[in-house]
Amino acid sequence: MKIGRKRAQTRQGKDLSRCALCFFLWLLVAPVFATESGLVDTTSSRFAKLRTVGLDEARWTRGFWANRFGLCRKQMVPSMARLMEGTNYSQFFRNFEITAGLAEGKSRGATFNDGDFYKFLEGASAVLAVTNDLALREKLDDIITVLAKAQETNGYLDTWVQLHQRAGDTNVVPFKNPEDFEMYNLGHLMTAACVHYRATGETNLLAIACKAADFLCETFKDPTPEFAENLICPSHYMGIVELYRMTHDAHYLDLAKKLFSMRDLVIDGGDDNQDRIPFEQQDEAEGHAVRANYLYAGAADLFLETGDANLWQSLAEIWTNVVTKKMYITGGCGALYDGASPDGSKEQKHITRVHQSYGRNFQLPNTTAYSETCANIGNVLWNWRMFLATGDAKFMDVVELALYNSVLSGGAVDGTNFFYTNPLRVTDPLPAHLRWSRQRVPFVSSFCCPPNLVRTIAESANYAYAKSADSIFVNLYGGSSLQTRLPGGDEIKLSQETDYPWNGRVRIKIEACGKSEFALKLRIPNWTSGATVRINDSLAENSPRPGSYFENRRAWKAGDFVDLDLPMPARLMEANPLVEEDLNQVAVQRGPMVYCLESPDLSPGVKISDVLIPAEMHLVTRYDRRLLDGIVVLEGKALARPAADWNGTLYRESQPEKFKSINVRFIPYCVWQNRGPSEMSVWLPRAN
Ligand SMILES: [Zn+2]
Repeated sequence: MKIGRKRAQTRQGKDLSRCALCFFLWLLVAPVFATESGLVDTTSSRFAKLRTVGLDEARWTRGFWANRFGLCRKQMVPSMARLMEGTNYSQFFRNFEITAGLAEGKSRGATFNDGDFYKFLEGASAVLAVTNDLALREKLDDIITVLAKAQETNGYLDTWVQLHQRAGDTNVVPFKNPEDFEMYNLGHLMTAACVHYRATGETNLLAIACKAADFLCETFKDPTPEFAENLICPSHYMGIVELYRMTHDAHYLDLAKKLFSMRDLVIDGGDDNQDRIPFEQQDEAEGHAVRANYLYAGAADLFLETGDANLWQSLAEIWTNVVTKKMYITGGCGALYDGASPDGSKEQKHITRVHQSYGRNFQLPNTTAYSETCANIGNVLWNWRMFLATGDAKFMDVVELALYNSVLSGGAVDGTNFFYTNPLRVTDPLPAHLRWSRQRVPFVSSFCCPPNLVRTIAESANYAYAKSADSIFVNLYGGSSLQTRLPGGDEIKLSQETDYPWNGRVRIKIEACGKSEFALKLRIPNWTSGATVRINDSLAENSPRPGSYFENRRAWKAGDFVDLDLPMPARLMEANPLVEEDLNQVAVQRGPMVYCLESPDLSPGVKISDVLIPAEMHLVTRYDRRLLDGIVVLEGKALARPAADWNGTLYRESQPEKFKSINVRFIPYCVWQNRGPSEMSVWLPRAN
């Protein structure tokens, strides 16, 4: 069966007949929560300073993000739906149909493909929240009907395991092999179910997720070290805690807490899964960067509910370690394809193999950077939760940095080709053979990133605003509208007009509001200086401070407007000298955008490795509406050294070289490699 061919047969009654009593009770109050909740619903989270806005309350209306949301709606979701019907690449949805007994065949694809399919479902649901597209809604209902049929009566659902068991493979047993990624898959099911419910008010997917969570409650009643091995790539902490927020069923919070503490039972753990030492003793980011960032996001979710000070202490220390020693200038995470950790430790018996992993402090190679799109999305998920706990702008600075650079770089401007890794430098030839493509492709065997990118773009408007009892936080700038209600009761409508990120002028207009005073809090990014705020054309008294929220509190009235000006000159950046790979090099950044130099923008015959940047380089800003769907390019004069033949030569005596002046054009890093195979570098040597 093709996705969406048949109208859904199953509706609430049939779905719910298999659910726990608490689910029935929850349904009585469910409509109250349907539309006012965002991706992460902190309405009742005791240790959250902020609440999110509803999935349909914040919308992109015009400009950079509206264009990307439009691409997501018109191209990314439909093309991924086709791919996930079950193609030559892999089966995805077909695995569910076979498990449900609706199609013939056997399991095909990676063990984590169920989770990737749920991410797609989540992204499509988030689009639905804004567009209310009936055809898409019916398509999702059809899919969910099949998922319900595929689920075992006890709540277990994992097509790879179920189909291999049915095929007679006696080695396949639920939660026996961590590489089956059952927790990862079910975690994404739960998150997708919460988003789907909040988008549609329908409980069909939520019923499946609750049944699966009930299965986990029963299965993990008595923790064992063997069970604890299954807690890898932990999307499940985020998923289970969100399910708790959704249903207010305390069993789910208990389950999340139990699974988190169960990590300590792992015998001979390692850094790859962050279980060498207990979480509360960890103060550095180690191991597989997707698994790490998902774990940190999950721990932050637990903190939001429990206020556990030990969790927060580790999270705060790990965060400082990441942003001061282990994160790329693009917000990317994970320096290594493969390595050992803790590398160079005195305690050699502690050293284990890691892959797709954070490296040592200041170990940030550019050509071999892993910087997996999922790890960079994980960085967003983690920092978003840290922000909700604190209201601190430093976490939103990271969200913005990662979104504009190492997250968006994961997809092509056509919406159908994807990177798995996001290197900061590519040369021809490469100095090493690397297992993942240096060009975006429609499919990679590890298909975790593409649907993750789809859901992130689909949900991006939800990060743009947040609220507290008497404040609206404007976190991200972009043409948008917000219609929400403050917890105190007043409804507020505002609009945002801007060409951000191409310039830093933003106008926010109050379209409607109540009579009560409230604060409009504007994020002043850490990269700007000299920002100004005008309210109804009058300069605000205080000067905005970069890296903080600028508060404008008053009794607003409809028609009031605020003009924010964030100067964003092109800047030459340098790295801490302990980052060997960036020593004596500079990168170009303008506003939130990191730029790069790509070979199509160089004269013929000039290679990326020949280009040097003068310290006083003057860069001219120009908007080119025809290039790469419209971008601001930065143009200037650089230097090029004569081409040299290094073939077969590792070292030679340094030779005086005569540089020639060349014209260069920098483009935003997130849109590189959209003009065919190319060389590219973010960091370039400084000429003096
Ligand atoms: Zn991935």
